[in-house]
Amino acid sequence: TPFVKLSGVHKTYEAETGNVRALDPVSFGIDRGHIVSVVGPSGCGKSTLLRILAGIDPATGGQVVIDGQEISGPVPNMGIVFQRDLLLDWRNVLDNVMLPAELARANMDETRSRAVALLSELGVGDFLNRLPFELSGGMRQRAAIARALLMRPSLLLLDEPFSALDAMTRDQMNVILQRLQQHERVTTLLITHSIAEAVFLSDRVVVMSARPGRVLDVIDIDLPTPRP
Ligand code: ADP
Ligand code: ADP
Repeated sequence: TPFVKLSGVHKTYEAETGNVRALDPVSFGIDRGHIVSVVGPSGCGKSTLLRILAGIDPATGGQVVIDGQEISGPVPNMGIVFQRDLLLDWRNVLDNVMLPAELARANMDETRSRAVALLSELGVGDFLNRLPFELSGGMRQRAAIARALLMRPSLLLLDEPFSALDAMTRDQMNVILQRLQQHERVTTLLITHSIAEAVFLSDRVVVMSARPGRVLDVIDIDLPTPRP
C-alpha cells in the first residue's frame, strides 16, 4: 500500500467574487521512498495540492492518508523546500540547517554530524560558516534541502525548488537530488512546471491541466537503469 494516498481530494476557495475551484478531485498514491511529481501550468492547483498534503490548508473534500493515518492538521516530521530558500540571513549555513534540531530539542551533537554530512554530500561542505548572502542561489537551495532532510522527515515536499535557478544550475541540482535520493530514500512530492525535470527525477508523474486543475494523466516512469 502506498505511504501517501490521496482519494478524491479537491479544493474550492470561497472568495468575495465567487467560489474559485482551485483543484478538482485528484487521486494518486506515493509509495514509500518514491518521488512523485506534479506538473502543470501556473494556476492549475499544484501549490494548493502541496498545502493540502502538508496539512497547512484543509481540503474541501476527499481524503489524505499518510502512513495509515488520515491527516487533519499540520503533518508532523515533514520537510518542505520552497522556490525561495527562506534561510535566516543572520545565521551561517550550518546554523540554518540545525534550526529544526533546535526547535525539536534534539541531541545537538548527533544532529550536527548529520547536518555536516548532508551539507558535504550536497557539495556545500566548505561553506558551513558562510552567511546565506555569500552563497549562490543553487548553494542556498542545497542548504534548504539539507535543512528539510535533517530530522529524517517521513515526507519531503518540494515546491518548485529549482525554478528560480538558471538552467545550468537546475541541471546540476537535479543530478545532486537524484544522487541524494539514492541514499536517503525519502518519500517525496515534487511540484514543478518542467516535464523534463519531473521525468528525470520521479517514479511517477501526475499531469494536470490548466483549468480547473483536472488530472490529465498519471504516468509511471520506467527508468532504463533500475534504482537500488
Ligand atoms: P499553481 O500552484 O498550480 O500555480 P495554485 O494552487 O496556486 O496553482 O492556484 C490554483 C487556483 O486557485 C488559482 O486559480 C488561484 O488563483 C486559486 N487560489 C489559490 N489560492 C487561493 C486563495 N487563497 N483564495 C482564492 N483563490 C486561490
Ligand atoms: P523548462 O522548460 O522548465 O525551462 P527545460 O526543458 O529547460 O525546462 O529543462 C528541464 C529540466 O530537466 C532541466 O532544468 C534539467 O534540470 C532537467 N533534466 C532533464 N534531463 C536531464 C539530465 N539528463 N540530466 C540532468 N537534468 C536533466
